[in-house]
Amino acid sequence: MSVMADMSLSSGAIDFVDDARLIGLLEGDSPEPARVHDILAKSLAKQALTVEETATLLAADDPDQVEAVFETARRLKREVYGNRIVLFAPLYIGNLCVNDCRYCTFRATNTSVRRRTLSGAELRAQIEALEEKGHKRLILVFGEHPRYDAEFIADCVRTVYATKVGHGEIRRVNINAAPLDHEGYRIVHEAGIGTYQVFQETYHHDTYARWHPPGTRKADYLYRLDALSRAMEAGCDDIGLGALFGLYDWRFEVLGLVSHALHLQSRYGVGPHTISFPRLRRASGVDVDGRHLVGDYDFKRLIATLRVAVPYTGLILTAREESALRREVMDFGVSQIDAGSRIEIGGYTESGDAQCVQQQQFSLGDVRSLDVVMRELICDGYVPSFCTACYRLGRTGEHFMEFAIPGFIKRFCTPNALTTLMEYLVDYASAETRQAGERLVRDELGKLPDGEHKAELVRRLDRIRTSDQRDLYF
Ligand code: SAM
Ligand code: SF4
Repeated sequence: MSVMADMSLSSGAIDFVDDARLIGLLEGDSPEPARVHDILAKSLAKQALTVEETATLLAADDPDQVEAVFETARRLKREVYGNRIVLFAPLYIGNLCVNDCRYCTFRATNTSVRRRTLSGAELRAQIEALEEKGHKRLILVFGEHPRYDAEFIADCVRTVYATKVGHGEIRRVNINAAPLDHEGYRIVHEAGIGTYQVFQETYHHDTYARWHPPGTRKADYLYRLDALSRAMEAGCDDIGLGALFGLYDWRFEVLGLVSHALHLQSRYGVGPHTISFPRLRRASGVDVDGRHLVGDYDFKRLIATLRVAVPYTGLILTAREESALRREVMDFGVSQIDAGSRIEIGGYTESGDAQCVQQQQFSLGDVRSLDVVMRELICDGYVPSFCTACYRLGRTGEHFMEFAIPGFIKRFCTPNALTTLMEYLVDYASAETRQAGERLVRDELGKLPDGEHKAELVRRLDRIRTSDQRDLYF
């Protein structure tokens, strides 16, 4: 471990990832079933796991033990979080990039990609197109480039919030961009961002050095590892971790993510809001060495293990994955997905149905429309939600509240999911989706306890159906 006293880092910044220790933890024998049972019981009792306990679960290769982890993840999802899935869309702002990450189409040495940054008018057109489909939550994605500094990011955020069409508006803007310094995080925080995501890509030092060539900004492992600590210190306490699965042993990366979450929790009293676990995809102009690619079974294991290990953290599953797999793993504790996504710059207005792989960072596995994904979720018994209430009412740490406060979901989450779903059904849904959605709303209302709160929810749903009133959250 090394301690740095560098002003560009967070106070007391530390490289808390000890590769040899994590690898050692993974080398243990397959654990006794009783030990696995005890660890899973701890998670079901609403306690986060230690890195050592997580490693024990990862060492449990026996199919029955893996099934026990799957079942615990499903139970946590069902019993603790309920059946809501939050929906969002990515919006790529620009693909200029000074880095040379070997897995990414946007890397500086790739001369076959057309470099482009949305102008203000183009950005507004993308936002309007997304609003007209029914989106309420976006994540803005940027390459790393001096042009995309904190002021530029903040301007984009302000433009998103200011652009409205019909009943459409974006109520939460998350960011996936390069690490900033303290001042940069203060600037984007003031613009009203939701979550700031920075993915470490790989927590394994040598692998990190191999994929991020020396001399590039991103080559500095510690500066990136420390990014979200700086964000916390600058007042952005809503942050998202991630690793790009496929660069190194997936089990190591899970331990890296859990170490990172625990580090933030112990240092700042707040863990990450979300964890993302993108799998490496084919990408134009990229030659990926497939040694550590993660198969579907291991992908399920990693999601279920994360669900069990960090129960207060939202899990994001992206449209990189094929639709059938997305449907299957939703049950393991995923809380957010993107839908109707296009990742070409300008893709929401300029692309037809086909992906233009040369112009996007990687190829997507699920390019179905928002309406089709909504209908599938509804028919599978999930409640698609566009809720942004906690964040706007200053109720930060909503996953913690969902998890820890009895009745929180019934009082806030389900009603807000239903009002935002009703907005979608009335304003944007196809007839078939509307019909399925109205049925789901009736079923969900049937599960809520009778009383004034439910009566108020029913009144609000009716107001959305019969008037122009929107955004009626609890
Ligand atoms: N440029 C910023 C950065 O690197 O942090 C913003 C993020 S980049 C546009 C979004 C994420 O996409 C990266 O952090 C990486 O994990 C992921 N990514 C890059 N190439 C990928 C690929 N070939 N397949 C899947 N995900 C990829
Ligand atoms: Fe640039 Fe991000 Fe792609 Fe790396 S992953 S080349 S930093 S856009």
